[in-house]
Amino acid sequence: MRLFLKGLKLVDKRNLPKQFNFVLCPSFHGASLLAILLNNHSKVISLGDTIPTRKTENFYCSCGPLIKDCIFWSHIEETQIPYNHSRSEHIAPLLPNLSVGTIERINRLNEHFQKFFSIWNFFPQKSQDFRKSVESFSAEVASFHRKKVFIDGTKDINRCLCIKHIVSERIRVIHLVRDPRAYITSLKRNFPKLENHTTLGSEMWKGFHGTVLQTFPQMDKCEYLPVFYENLSIRPEIEMKRIFKFLDLEEESVFSTPKKPHHIIGNRMIAKFDGVVKQDSEWKKIMHLDEQEEILKHCEPIASLLNYQLEE
Ligand SMILES: [Zn+2]
Repeated sequence: MRLFLKGLKLVDKRNLPKQFNFVLCPSFHGASLLAILLNNHSKVISLGDTIPTRKTENFYCSCGPLIKDCIFWSHIEETQIPYNHSRSEHIAPLLPNLSVGTIERINRLNEHFQKFFSIWNFFPQKSQDFRKSVESFSAEVASFHRKKVFIDGTKDINRCLCIKHIVSERIRVIHLVRDPRAYITSLKRNFPKLENHTTLGSEMWKGFHGTVLQTFPQMDKCEYLPVFYENLSIRPEIEMKRIFKFLDLEEESVFSTPKKPHHIIGNRMIAKFDGVVKQDSEWKKIMHLDEQEEILKHCEPIASLLNYQLEE
């Protein structure tokens, strides 16, 4: 039985990058800033919230034109046609062609069984399509930019797990963390019509960071680096040095306007970035202490674990 299952796992991994790299965080955690700084390194290609959806094709790419008119993203869309499927909302499939619920269950089971066999073997066609899509995507991204190290910034935990289980056993995860109070302040500013910012934001924050902390730090063949946005904004040089070391790269000066070529998808700050990292303390002036207390209470035990507490 075991021999049979082992046979199913045969995949030629010789031509793949040794490791796949990811940035994982919810929205409004400084991922766009980190994407620019990473992409400014001569060996790194980072695309921010990678993979535009079909709905966001009328948004602008950081290179200037709309995403649908950008030569890079058009090239990706074209080369991904053979692998894309009807369930996918993106111009390249973010996940295999199964419901998100099913994917989540498979990934969870795999954590227990992977030493013996992968549950993904029971979906050979869907796994193969996804593997080919990811291989083609990372190869096209790297060759188009003539850079070696690709950072997947899709911020999707399931994509990261699917790539680990189906494409490459070795992964590196940069876990970007931000104070939940700062996150909820950004949420309010960007979605003023939404109700229950405090409850909803706390749930999202806690759910995402809790899952990452439960999954990656102790995972086999996974290198894990937590990066606190607060530290990145207070001492950016030291934090970037730490990140480049984690990625096995020489340190470089990356604090400038976005270096070309760049096709970063993310928030509006990308176009305005002048190389100076600003401090993230605005929320402290706006948010009442009662609300801060409520948010931190909602976010327990993750908030304490990540060392976020009320300042006396
Ligand atoms: Zn572009």
